[in-house]
Formats: sequence, C-alpha cells, structure tokens
Amino acid sequence: MQPPAPLRLTIDLDALAHNWRWFARASAPAACGAAVKADAYGVGAKAVVERLAAEGCRDFFVATWSEAAGLLPLPAGATLRILHGVLPDDLAFAVASDAIPMLVSAEQVARWRDAAPGRRCDVMVDTGMNRLGLGLDELAALDGLAIDTLHSHLACADEPGHPMNVRQLAAFRALDVPARQRSFANSAGVCEGAAYHFDLTRPGLGLYGGVPHPAAAGQLRQVVRAEAQVVQTRTLKAGEAIGYNRTFAAKADTQVAILNLGYADGYLRAFSGVGQALAGGAALPVLGRVSMDLTAIDASGAALTEGDWVEVDFDLPRASAASGLSQYELLTCLGARYQRRYL
Ligand SMILES: *Cc1c(COP(=O)(O)O)cnc(C)c1O
Repeated sequence: MQPPAPLRLTIDLDALAHNWRWFARASAPAACGAAVKADAYGVGAKAVVERLAAEGCRDFFVATWSEAAGLLPLPAGATLRILHGVLPDDLAFAVASDAIPMLVSAEQVARWRDAAPGRRCDVMVDTGMNRLGLGLDELAALDGLAIDTLHSHLACADEPGHPMNVRQLAAFRALDVPARQRSFANSAGVCEGAAYHFDLTRPGLGLYGGVPHPAAAGQLRQVVRAEAQVVQTRTLKAGEAIGYNRTFAAKADTQVAILNLGYADGYLRAFSGVGQALAGGAALPVLGRVSMDLTAIDASGAALTEGDWVEVDFDLPRASAASGLSQYELLTCLGARYQRRYL
C-alpha cells in the first residue's frame, strides 16, 4: 500500500500541446522542435516527448548523453540532438547511438571526424554569447564535415529590441558554412519574428507555460499546477510572529494555515512573504519564512481545515515577478516529493 502524498503536481499535456502548436504556427514555414533538457524543465521528458511527437514535433533537444540515454529510442520519425556535443567520455555511446551530437568546439569536431568519419552531426557556432560554440575564427575546422543543422543561440532574445539580437542575426546570416539546414531561435527568438526562424526553431520555456517575450503574453496555457495539503490551522494573535526568525507579525488576529510545502520542494525561500496560495477564488498570501517542509499562509480569505488542499500559485510570470526567480528556475527546481499526475 502506498501512503498518500501531501503534495500534488498536475501536468496538463493538452496545455503543452496547445503551446507547442502556437510555437509551430509562429515558426512556420520553419519546423518547430522542442527543448526537453533537464527532464523537460522538470515537467517530465518522457511524457513530453511522447505527446509532442504525437502532435507532429520531430526534433528534440537534450543537454547531455546521459539525458539522451533515458529517452532513447524516440517515437518513430523523431530525432534527438545533444546540445553539449561529444566529450571524450561520450564517444562510445555517441557513436553507437543515432542521436545527433551538436559539436560545440574545434576539439569536438576533430574528435567526431576521427571517431565517426563521414557521419552527420550538428554544429553550434558562437555569434556573440560566448558560451558554447565554435568561434567565427575557427570555422575552417568545419571544411568537408557532414553538417546536418548549423545552429547558433541568442543571448538577449527575451529583451525585445536589444541591439545584440540584430548583431547576432547578422553574424549568423553571414556564415558561409554548408549545412542541410539552419536553426537559431529559442522560445523568445521565435517571438522576435520571421527573420530569426531559419529552418528549425528550438523553443523550451514557452512550451511549459513560461512567457518568454511580450509577444507571447496571453497566448500560452499554464502546464504545471501545484497543490499542497493543509497540515494544521491556527489563529495567530495580534502582535504574535510566525515562523523562523519572526519575519512576520500579525497586526490583528489572523487565521493561518500551515501547508505541507517548503523549499525542499522547490518552493524556495524567495517566496517568503511574497508567494500566495489560491483557494475558492481567494489569494492567500505566504506569511513569514518558507521553511524546508512547511509554509504558512493567511487563511482569512478561505475556510480551511486540516487535510484541505490549496493550489500554490504557479503562474510562471507572476510567480517569477513575486519571487525574483526566473521562470526557468521555478520549473527546474520542482522537487521529487510531489505526486505527479498527467492530464
Ligand atoms: C535551452 C535551449 C533552448 C531553449 O531555450 P528556451 O529559452 O527555453 O526556449 C534552445 N536552444 C539552446 C541551444 C538551448 O540551450
């Protein structure tokens, strides 16, 4: 017998599919892929790949071969690309796999030529982010390589009108490197417009309900909903403080509910005093410090008792603005104690 979990995560795969279709329409005539690294940003890569493949997505991206190993084989017709390329330790697995490495340095190009002569690969070129990719002065290393997709990655696409966007676009356009196709845009890059789309786009965040750019506001559906159970209710008397370090004191007698949720679940201390739960249409503010396993909320707006469930507000733009955590971090921090339900 399984004991009940006091924390639930509901993952709405119809909302995920809606969001992918929005990016696919926005990307057309370019093909639209899906970044599923970090277990699909914490949402669950297996379920995400299965659903998006059924929607027609053909191109999936993970960071490393150990992530790839958990996903292969992919549904028929779908391709997996490995964003960090091949390190020496990856070679044996990579050569035996039909996933495609995205080579990110001249060293990796030499390694791949040596280990798999003539085999196709992707290449990442750095157009100014200075993170991964061959520099513009290293492109001679690519001569004669069987490049499937030539990629670059935007540093500031979530800042519309940032001069870096057009600078990187011009540098990517100017590349004289033969490849079957080109790919440039993440979620925010898709929103920057058709010039950024090339042949294949690589959205991640927006698929999972994050709003990457003002152009996507109001277009995407929330994918992840979190609910926590009430462990205890109590009355905080006027003048009394609650939680570690007494960071909140009640001005008047206040009805409080203690939730089975804490920073060990990814509800980080950044939500102390600024997060909220939702119950019966009321917003119930977090009071005082979030602790490891427990969070106090002001329950004045709802008649809560022990064992009741409340929704933890996980609207990504709103939760990000409240906590100062990025929408990406909010997703990838989700802990292991949730019971997950896929709709
Ligand atoms: C993670 C990643 C993406 C997806 O980015 P989002 O901002 O989540 O849409 C696309 N391309 C590369 C190279 C990435 O590393």
